[in-house]
Amino acid sequence: MVPIRSVKKESVECETEHFLMAQKQLDEIAAEMGLDAELHERLRYPKRSLIVSIPVRLDSGKVQTFTGYRVHHDVSLGPAKGGIRFHPEVNLGEVAGLAMLMTWKCALMGLPFGGAKGGIRCEPWKMSSGELERLTRRYTAEIINLIGPDKDIPAPDMYTNEQTMAWIMDTYSINVGYTVPSVVTGKPISIGGSLGRQEATGRGVAYCAKQAAAFTELNAKNPSVVIQGFGNVGSVTAKLLYESGYKIIAVSDVYGGIYNMDGLDIPRLLAYVSEMGKVGEFAGGKTISNEELLALPCDILIPAALGNQIRKDNVADLKCKIIVEAANGPTSPEADQYLQDKKIVVVPDVLANAGGVTVSYFEWVQGLMHLFWTEEEVNQRLEQIMGRACQQIFELSKKTGLRLRMAALRIGISRLAEAKRLRGLYP
Ligand code: GLU
Repeated sequence: MVPIRSVKKESVECETEHFLMAQKQLDEIAAEMGLDAELHERLRYPKRSLIVSIPVRLDSGKVQTFTGYRVHHDVSLGPAKGGIRFHPEVNLGEVAGLAMLMTWKCALMGLPFGGAKGGIRCEPWKMSSGELERLTRRYTAEIINLIGPDKDIPAPDMYTNEQTMAWIMDTYSINVGYTVPSVVTGKPISIGGSLGRQEATGRGVAYCAKQAAAFTELNAKNPSVVIQGFGNVGSVTAKLLYESGYKIIAVSDVYGGIYNMDGLDIPRLLAYVSEMGKVGEFAGGKTISNEELLALPCDILIPAALGNQIRKDNVADLKCKIIVEAANGPTSPEADQYLQDKKIVVVPDVLANAGGVTVSYFEWVQGLMHLFWTEEEVNQRLEQIMGRACQQIFELSKKTGLRLRMAALRIGISRLAEAKRLRGLYP
């Protein structure tokens, strides 16, 4: 494969390791599908990127200035869509790489959106609620020209939640002079959020895990599952798979993990975590480190925490049959290659965690129509869209021998390429 050299190559600021990982996936599938070289080059970098300085008065009275980002990768199919994350490792490259993944994810799911991502480099767990509110509101004011219900619709991501979305919605609305619920998704229900949005990512992950079990003809009666991360996504996935008879043998959070080879009692664990704030000393399991957890023998491994968790240095320790990527970018390209060689099936992030943005789409549509659906309707429509995407990807993979990630990207990128071809190039 001959990578396309861009004249911008030496001078593009977003080319961090994280960004290059997303770009490498694009290069690989572009070569495989014979994507038009000029179109390929247009898709290799974000359409627009904004870096902002965010001065915030802390509770101590001092002012600290944070750095924030919002990147639009592509908007050919509709307004840009993607989450906002608060994390100390946020940088332009990470946000740009994740924005690119959002483009493929929305196209793959057939949603009328382009891809975006945003973030603020900060340590949210060290900040008070008041400081987070001032940080969010000032960030919103700084990126206000980029966002809007027809332009770019943010949503929650790592360490942001429905309260963060309520502050963005309020700040935007105050500035334009009227209430605009559809400027964000993942809002609280009482101000225009959708039923089922909070559970949607985990619901989609659980659905994909079941589809992947059927696809690989996993014959286990109660497939064993290991989940890294027990936040909004990991905990909902655990609950739904447990209810479907899967045996959740280990889970972890930032502080550490627990395991029980006979299966954890997930309802009890959920009650424990909501009281204690961590899985740590739950009586129904033994403690385990994050490395040990990833290496446990199991049928399905679900990374639902940070990116870059399955790497060259630890991939050979894995003893699972299927990986369902609930997090964005949990597998490095070298590890991905190794997993393919070992015939471990990887359900890629762009499919596995797409339940979140799919119900975000429903929330946006309901807000614009001022007509709201029942939770049943939301879940049913989610399953319809996820089911269609799974089927198309599994079929293409079977037909061509492409691994699921490449099959998913090929479907998403083909749709986008068709749209760009029809729209033509301005001027
Ligand atoms: N942050 C989520 C993701 O990475 C959701 C994005 C959205 O709902 O717009 O897919």
